[in-house]
Amino acid sequence: MKILVINSGSSSIKYRLYDMPEEKLFLKGMIDKIAEKGSSVKNHHEGFKLILDKINGVDAVGHRVVHGAEEFQKPTLIDDSIIRRLKKYNILAPLHNPANLSGIVACKNLLKNICQAAVFDTSFHHSLPDYAYTYGLPFSFYKKYKIRRYGFHGTSHHYVAQESAKLLKRPLTALKIVTCHLGNGCSMAAVKKGKCIDTTMGFTPQEGLLMGTRAGDMDTAVIVYLVEKLNKSIEEVNRIINKDSGLKGISGVSNDMRKIEDAIKKGNKRARLARDIFIYRIRKYIGSYAAIMGGIDAVVFTAGIGENQVQLRSDVTKGLFDYLKNKPKVMVVPTNEELMIARQTYGLIKKGKK
Ligand code: ADP
Repeated sequence: MKILVINSGSSSIKYRLYDMPEEKLFLKGMIDKIAEKGSSVKNHHEGFKLILDKINGVDAVGHRVVHGAEEFQKPTLIDDSIIRRLKKYNILAPLHNPANLSGIVACKNLLKNICQAAVFDTSFHHSLPDYAYTYGLPFSFYKKYKIRRYGFHGTSHHYVAQESAKLLKRPLTALKIVTCHLGNGCSMAAVKKGKCIDTTMGFTPQEGLLMGTRAGDMDTAVIVYLVEKLNKSIEEVNRIINKDSGLKGISGVSNDMRKIEDAIKKGNKRARLARDIFIYRIRKYIGSYAAIMGGIDAVVFTAGIGENQVQLRSDVTKGLFDYLKNKPKVMVVPTNEELMIARQTYGLIKKGKK
């Protein structure tokens, strides 16, 4: 079965074509500069036409959707009612969901009789217990506005947890795993018996680890202080904590860990501090996840930093498990969110045919 996996952004569409269940990758590519000035691709509809010209037929399409809110707890086959329901959540992920939906709508119009599935970044985190996802705000804010921890990068955490179980030759349902997705955006998950029970990102991808440009965990009163005492506008504060903070903000060098490493070699103290904070927070979360899972069998690293920065991985885990009799395995599993989307789309269609 030929499954087209789509990651539709506001100005780009990334695609991969898989043969399933063999998991053979036929083709991958990207259409970019959609709707940008001077571009020949005016909208997502035209972008998809270009993709469909490149491929010789397709049996199903799997779309990445960033936010599924509380409603979409699993990958879901898309029909018109699903599109209507999904629109409600644009407000929760204004930079991503509208672009994901544009891709879905364009694809539906062009491939009328082809099965399409939405695979959500949030759905792997639906198993979080209420005491892990509820914030300490008045409860009505959760009831009325759905303000809670959702978590992101779920497709990646799920994929690397599954792959690490295969490498360990043990069922995922018998394992306690901490997955660390360390790219530009960074998050961790505590995966106990195959279910995610906690994760570092929250209502938005802002919470948790220090990231390339995001501040991560921080006293929320800092925001009030910036607005009230320093007269910054809310938009400015939002930009600062999302785009000018993290590794970039602390080091003053870059959001890119490779450049941070280069600066450290040249004696840059702030770059050293940024890297120290980055590592310290990961260590703190590994410790707390080991505590809530009642042990830990493996720590799995993935994404740009997690897969490539050997010294950083070693600095994260150094001495961390000295007190344990059974030391967890430290593993690297390259993430493959697209393949996970293809697997889940294939699984949905197979289930539907039974
Ligand atoms: P994104 O979250 O945008 O997909 P990536 O997963 O590519 O980003 O991660 C980007 C981070 O990974 C950067 O900080 C970069 O320094 C680091 N990185 C990527 N490739 C390498 C590499 N080959 N060696 C060391 N660091 C790398």
